[in-house]
Amino acid sequence: MKLPRTDLPLSRPALLVLAYRYLVRDEKGDPVETPEEMFWRVARAVAEAEREFGEDPEFWAERFYQLMASLDFLPNSPTLMNAGLPLGQLSACFVLPVEDSLEAIFEALKAAALIHKSGGGTGFSFSRLRPKGDVVRTTQGVASGPVSFMRVFDAATEAIKQGGKRRGANMGILRVDHPDIEEFILIKRDPRELRNFNISVAVTEDFIKALKQGADFPLINPRTGQETRRVKARHLFDLLTESAWMTGDPGVIFLDTINRANPTPLLGPIESTNPCGEQPLLPYESCNLGSINLSRFVKDRQVDYPRLGKTVRLAVRFLDDVIEVNRFPLPQIARITRLNRKIGLGVMGFADLLIRLGIPYDSAEAVKLAEEIMAFIERESVAESQRLGEIRGSFPAFPGSLWDEKGFPAMRNATTTTVAPTGTLSLIAGTSSGIEPLFALAYRRRALEGVEWTEIHPEFLKALEERKLPVEDIVAEVLERGGLSGIKGVPEDLKRLFVTAFEVSPERHLAIQAAFQRHTHNAVSKTINLPEDTPKEEIGRIYLKAYELGLKGVTIYRYGSRPEAPLRLAREE
Ligand code: UDP
Repeated sequence: MKLPRTDLPLSRPALLVLAYRYLVRDEKGDPVETPEEMFWRVARAVAEAEREFGEDPEFWAERFYQLMASLDFLPNSPTLMNAGLPLGQLSACFVLPVEDSLEAIFEALKAAALIHKSGGGTGFSFSRLRPKGDVVRTTQGVASGPVSFMRVFDAATEAIKQGGKRRGANMGILRVDHPDIEEFILIKRDPRELRNFNISVAVTEDFIKALKQGADFPLINPRTGQETRRVKARHLFDLLTESAWMTGDPGVIFLDTINRANPTPLLGPIESTNPCGEQPLLPYESCNLGSINLSRFVKDRQVDYPRLGKTVRLAVRFLDDVIEVNRFPLPQIARITRLNRKIGLGVMGFADLLIRLGIPYDSAEAVKLAEEIMAFIERESVAESQRLGEIRGSFPAFPGSLWDEKGFPAMRNATTTTVAPTGTLSLIAGTSSGIEPLFALAYRRRALEGVEWTEIHPEFLKALEERKLPVEDIVAEVLERGGLSGIKGVPEDLKRLFVTAFEVSPERHLAIQAAFQRHTHNAVSKTINLPEDTPKEEIGRIYLKAYELGLKGVTIYRYGSRPEAPLRLAREE
């Protein structure tokens, strides 16, 4: 494939991913637009929304173009892929209801297919499905239970992969009090099962209480509301944390915490999140995300708050406009999404920002900065959404919402903030992903033609050169070990500043996540990365600590525990 020409500061891997998945291509598969043309396509399509509000679309298109082409901000991938094109589906996150009937299950499957085709990810709670072995009255047969239906969703996702824009991602949730919970907790220990799913157990406060008291916990058939049997809460928790220790799955979500923050309880409870856990949504609701590249907001070794504030406000306007021009895959999705008008503005490049400021990720100062920056982004985004609400009208479900109860005069969006993983966006922007620490300081990359080279984090290379340290020797050791710890001849302060994901203590990972969560309306995507020799009991401690910190969910990954994990040290493609 011919790489597109560009004057933007995009790396070769960024250009490759753009060429393969984002830029419009001809029949031969070659890109027919440049990255600049892609940003113009998106800017113009989104700015069309301004026309309805009596604004000049060209004026706003110009600003939106600058916002993206500077790499200060990028909207979620489906917006970059589909804006201005016939598909026109611009959201990354969806939640679909799965009701307890064959018709409803296959309706959800169809909706998921349409969403995956357009590059969106789907979350489902399977908690309403009757358990395995329960009665099916119309056929006088027996029900096969949530896990067997999840396999159907998994197979469908697999088939759609070929034709879609990217790998369809799913979140499968089951409540901790569902009678099939043990089967669910164990299912992904077999690496062939549910490969297109992340799974999470929806933990309730009652469960935590039973766990702390060492009590039995009732499992309830959702069809009848009757208790089917009792299990020791401790037994379930140990099974769960052991599975997570073995494979990373299941994670947990804390349903009561999520629902306390549900901005529109009158529309019903939240029962699921999107695939990577950062976006709790109502059944049929969707949300479009966007991320600010924090590494670009350093001035004189300080955070450039005035420029960050302007960027937040413009990004909120952009994301609100996306809702106007978005083409939703189903009328039910259009309806509820337009009722709440949720947007999710977040960040990427937090680790790179810290490095530029000389603050180690594994430090109390980093937690303090996380809190300060996200509080600022939340404040500015709410101010802009309120301002837009006064001009354009509040989101229709505003009466009786938490915003209404708090005495806000108007609010355009039921939520404004979400911290996404930014898996691909951060690659395009050339920065560290989401709020994660650096994954590796150097790694081998292999091009499709088989040529291999070593990529070194630019700030790390600069630091080694400035201190006149032997770059080649140190990089060779880093490739071997993954990080700087244990390497002789590297000054302590560099070891601290360039700490990598598996060297950061779990407490600090959690503290950073909690600092962001305190100022985020939706949730925060974060992986608690752990060294390979982490004991099993540690996982239980992390899950409980996450609950106490008020997190909405938690995901762990123990190094080497999943052979096909996308990120392996020194082995990236
Ligand atoms: N997502 C998806 N398929 C993918 C990656 C992501 O459906 O292969 C969805 C999913 O809902 C996820 C969300 O996009 O939670 C945001 O992921 P991320 O920030 O990594 O996406 P990016 O915009 O960087 O591509």
